[in-house]
Amino acid sequence: MSETTAGGTRTTAYGGNGSANGETLLTVKGLTKYFPVMRGFIIRRQSGLVRAVDGISFELNAGETLGLVGESGCGKTTTGNTIMQLEPPTAGEVIFEGSDLVQLSRDDQRRARRKMQMIFQDPYGSLNPRMSVGRIIEEPLQVHDLYDSRDERRQRVRELLELVGLDPRFASRYPHEFSGGQRQRIAFARALAVQPSFIVCDEPVSALDVSIQAQIMNLLLDLQQQLGVAYLFISHDFKVVRQISHRIAVMYLGQIVEMAPSEQFYLRPLHPYTRCLLSAVPVPDPDLEAKRERIILTGDVPSPVNPPSGCRFHPRCPWAQDRCATEEPELTDAGDGHFVSCHFWQDIEAKGGALPMAANGASAG
Ligand code: SF4
Repeated sequence: MSETTAGGTRTTAYGGNGSANGETLLTVKGLTKYFPVMRGFIIRRQSGLVRAVDGISFELNAGETLGLVGESGCGKTTTGNTIMQLEPPTAGEVIFEGSDLVQLSRDDQRRARRKMQMIFQDPYGSLNPRMSVGRIIEEPLQVHDLYDSRDERRQRVRELLELVGLDPRFASRYPHEFSGGQRQRIAFARALAVQPSFIVCDEPVSALDVSIQAQIMNLLLDLQQQLGVAYLFISHDFKVVRQISHRIAVMYLGQIVEMAPSEQFYLRPLHPYTRCLLSAVPVPDPDLEAKRERIILTGDVPSPVNPPSGCRFHPRCPWAQDRCATEEPELTDAGDGHFVSCHFWQDIEAKGGALPMAANGASAG
């Protein structure tokens, strides 16, 4: 499980035994995306780089869901965008159904992308308000030349509306006539029109009311069961991610710091950052909730323009030691498909996750 290349890029792909059918669909290797920081009004000069995604690797199997979680600004959305080639990666490989998308011509990328779709957070901004729902769903069928006649396309639109739980008669209506949850259903119908095998879902329920969130999550699960589609499910919300994911990966400052099958992840969180985040998630059992130690993370997420040396989490980590400030930990195999990037995860686990006496940047609450 060695990791190599410039800028801390990690080239080993970690994956997929929490999967649905064991066939690798997507391999992401050392994916890196830096954005230039420009200064000056008259003479524009590059003054630095935002290291939004910094060498992440994983595999995704057909029919599997990988939940990607982390605080806002950690690089989750940029990861989704670069996998979809909406942003060209700075480095790395995105191998989808055997082809490296990064190396393909634009035309070949477009063809390959038929099998990869994306759902966005904002159900209000992601649908063209001037097009009827029928036209919105029909458009990808036309772009990819999937049916010969308009009648066949319209029939397919009706089937898709039914598939996502909407009345086929809604095809003649416009997006402003629908609620947020219904609009997300329309977005799914459009994504499914081209029979994708992979969908990036970028915070698809975070703009919705809790009761509507549950309906959309159930729809996602039903569609996966019926169609065998794989999801990269991006969210900041552990409760939502838990409902849908076979495996979960945690991102911090552009890197994956822990990845594990979902059950393992919640039973045995190993990375200090994961421990801190999970300690803040309420549990339904009031007795258990009263007994739990809450680790309150202090300090802000450092700037991705100038990330901390060594372990990027060290300025906020309650368990940090001298080595952490100078030496970057590798993502290492902790067994059973569980990977963690921390020098001291074994010591911390052996002590039951107890906080050290002089905790750095955090406190129990
Ligand atoms: Fe904390 Fe050090 Fe582990 Fe980083 S390597 S998570 S700073 S203990």
